[in-house]
Amino acid sequence: MTTTDRFVVPAPAVVSVPVAGSVERFPVRRVYCVGRNYEEHAKEMGFTGREPPFFFLKPADAVVPVNAGETGRIAYPTLTQNLHHEIELVVAIGKGGAHIKAADALARVFGYAVGLDMTRRDLQNDMKKQGRPWCIGKGFDQSAPIGPITPAADVPGVMQAAISLTVNGAPRQASLVSKLIWNVAETIEHLSAAWTLAPGDLIYTGTPEGVAAVVRGDTLHGHVDGLCDLTVTVV
Ligand code: MN
Repeated sequence: MTTTDRFVVPAPAVVSVPVAGSVERFPVRRVYCVGRNYEEHAKEMGFTGREPPFFFLKPADAVVPVNAGETGRIAYPTLTQNLHHEIELVVAIGKGGAHIKAADALARVFGYAVGLDMTRRDLQNDMKKQGRPWCIGKGFDQSAPIGPITPAADVPGVMQAAISLTVNGAPRQASLVSKLIWNVAETIEHLSAAWTLAPGDLIYTGTPEGVAAVVRGDTLHGHVDGLCDLTVTVV
């Protein structure tokens, strides 16, 4: 493909996320998500024990970038009556590769952000019961709000950070990034054994306990120490 190629339908725009302290943006290639990566959340979902990490994906254009200090808007999705919030630390890959060892993994990270893995829990549960893919429960439009990405060098303490979510000011989720079952480096090792990572990939690393439903009009406020907060309203 060259820059002079012409397309038979309009070419999709590159989805991008603001970068804290920069006018340049982070272009999104793929959105990987880790399932059940905090013990207390695994328990609340009916599972126990340390299992190997497992992954699912969301479309890149499910990402809803929200600028610092602004409130994003996401539409209440179709087909569900049980839209859940999952607050997550998001890793932004700056240098790609396959079979990356955990010891080398953090050098591949461009930065970190606060994200929400919005979930149509009723549909996800139906799919689980039937042994079908989770796509309809996880990969719907606007299912991946994200705040600005902070370059990794600016958040040296992120692996020990507190992570939390309030809904309309009331606490819903609160934990520590250090409670991740598979930490960021280990997650990258496992993920890059299955897919070749590339610049522009985002990894939603999993949510702590306290997932619950939101309704239209609710405002979600996500926080990870050292990162830009993420605020979105469901409309
Ligand atoms: Mn999740």
